[in-house]
Amino acid sequence: MNIILLGPPGAGKGTQAQRLVERHGMKQLSTGDMLRAAVKAGTSVGLKAKAVMEAGELVSDEIVSALIGDELDAMASGQGAIFDGYPRTAPQAQSLEAILETRGRTLDHVVELEVNEDALVERITGRYTCASCGKGYHDTFEKPVVEGTCDKCGGQEFKRRPDDNEETVRTRMAEYRAKTAPILPLYEERGIVARVDGMAEMDDVTNAIEAILNGR
Ligand code: ADP
Ligand code: ADP
Ligand code: ZN
Repeated sequence: MNIILLGPPGAGKGTQAQRLVERHGMKQLSTGDMLRAAVKAGTSVGLKAKAVMEAGELVSDEIVSALIGDELDAMASGQGAIFDGYPRTAPQAQSLEAILETRGRTLDHVVELEVNEDALVERITGRYTCASCGKGYHDTFEKPVVEGTCDKCGGQEFKRRPDDNEETVRTRMAEYRAKTAPILPLYEERGIVARVDGMAEMDDVTNAIEAILNGR
């Protein structure tokens, strides 16, 4: 099964993708994570992407589509993919069609997480992750069980993203509205879009997504 998680920054795409990975052994394909890894490694892609990401603008379609194609090539054909943060523009949605087709994959569901924009700034500014395993946390909404220790791996170092500040998040929301939301009709025509209330409790969001994947 191949699915897209769609929603503005802070909607809960990464949180829900991590849960689907744990439950179903699917692979999370996050272009944001791939780009941050490239920035950290100082590759040519990273050098091009760094300033764009810090400004909250979109990295070029060619770069992100190439990253996605490479990641899919490294996967076993039977493993399902969760596209998290990709596609984000109409050209990316077109590229994804070709990328999937040449690999014999089809898109099963596009899950749109519907959220209230006013809540997103609080979600984004309180977000942090475990530096060793990448598990996501929030200052208020998802704290580790033992303060300062990752629930998943026991790590004690955490990090915050440089672009998770109020000013940048406003730009990212505007980019979402202008360039990403308009790709939905392409999938609506095919009847594969499902909407989930992203303002609900994390577990309820997970259950709603599970129901969609199970065809309920
Ligand atoms: P995205 O990947 O869509 O940008 P995240 O999954 O990283 O969003 O979520 C952003 C922040 O909000 C994280 O700190 C996460 O713990 C928190 N969060 C995610 N889903 C919920 C929810 N349903 N209710 C409250 N907080 C949430
Ligand atoms: P969030 O989870 O908060 O929505 P991401 O981690 O997906 O953020 O993306 C962080 C940044 O990386 C974006 O603001 C953008 O600069 C860049 N980026 C990630 N995915 C894409 C994409 N598909 N197309 C263009 N830029 C992207
Ligand atoms: Zn960890």
